[in-house]
Amino acid sequence: MTTRTIDVAGLSELVDHLWALGYEVWGPQIDNGVIVPGVLPSVRDLPLGWTDEQEPAHYRTLRRGDGARFGYAVGPRSYKELLHPPEQQVWSMTRDDEGELTVTMTEPEPVRRAFFGVRPCELAAIGRQDRVLTDGPHPDPVYGTNRAEVLIVTVDCGDPAATCFCPSLGTGPRSGPGYDLAITELADADLSGRDSRYVVRVGSPKGQVILDAVPSHPTPPHELAAADAVVAAATDTMTRNLDTDRIKVLIYDNLDGPQWDRVAERCLACGNCTFVCPTCFCTNLEDVTNLAGDETTRWRVWDTCFSTEFSHLGPGPVRDSTASRYRQWFSHKLAGWIDQFGESGCVGCGRCITWCPVGIDITTELAVMRAGEEAVR
Ligand code: SF4
Ligand code: SF4
Repeated sequence: MTTRTIDVAGLSELVDHLWALGYEVWGPQIDNGVIVPGVLPSVRDLPLGWTDEQEPAHYRTLRRGDGARFGYAVGPRSYKELLHPPEQQVWSMTRDDEGELTVTMTEPEPVRRAFFGVRPCELAAIGRQDRVLTDGPHPDPVYGTNRAEVLIVTVDCGDPAATCFCPSLGTGPRSGPGYDLAITELADADLSGRDSRYVVRVGSPKGQVILDAVPSHPTPPHELAAADAVVAAATDTMTRNLDTDRIKVLIYDNLDGPQWDRVAERCLACGNCTFVCPTCFCTNLEDVTNLAGDETTRWRVWDTCFSTEFSHLGPGPVRDSTASRYRQWFSHKLAGWIDQFGESGCVGCGRCITWCPVGIDITTELAVMRAGEEAVR
């Protein structure tokens, strides 16, 4: 594995070079008070000197005291929106004056995109979605088309949020497999960030060719050590933990416990936790007909297991209580996924904790369940 160091000019050339190669570059930027992926014209558009503060049901951006360009954790929107869009037209149908119907299937258009500044948990989430939506028995053509030409540049986390717990799932704060390039930022103490350094690891032949095109120098031992220290310090700051020991058995043994009713007293069944989750992939189909009645479009839209319609069968919803819907989400995410896909459906990004309007915390709920079981023993 090649490791090289680039300076700010090199980072800037890297983004420019991706555009020159025909990639639409997406990266973090401030949008409506949150740091989320957006089209990134240049390095100047990164949130230089900004960070975020996150707690259960709390998020805000604030200034940092240094020149970091990647000194924050994940925001409410993830790259899932580009790979598995919230709304996707499936087909349209028209009726002419003679009543003849014409159906036109919507073919997904491939877009060459570079995801720049992807966090390790986000990379792991893309891996989870790959497994479900491209590698499984029912590959999704929309996801497959959107995913086919994606280049991924990750940035290891140096400043995780209080809601993050990626070490519990082994998904961060250092980038795992699947990237083309992985960066660790050595942030300049000066607010200008002009002397920041970026230690870059190569993860694929494509990444190597791209790194070779920008000015870099061999990473000296002290910068390698500094990059390791950034990741180690990030790990040390994360105190939230999801204890995965016997997790499947624990959850399956507690499907009928009293905990679900207690959570339901607070849960609004709003579905926020599923919409912000980078691994949730459930959808519904909706037909929209114009007022003249001669044109219909069918849309695939994100759905949530927190809606009563989600489990609606002939006689009504199978899961008609908030308690049963929270249990479904929690037990599928942390246990059922392991049976279905061989790994957890959670990557420890903490979004469902930050963006739950009443601050319900998946790690606390698991700890409460574990404590309850231990008290009975
Ligand atoms: S369940 Fe919550 S912490 Fe886990 S991946 Fe989804 S949003 Fe992130
Ligand atoms: S757990 Fe929180 S975010 Fe999820 S549905 Fe309930 S209130 Fe909404």
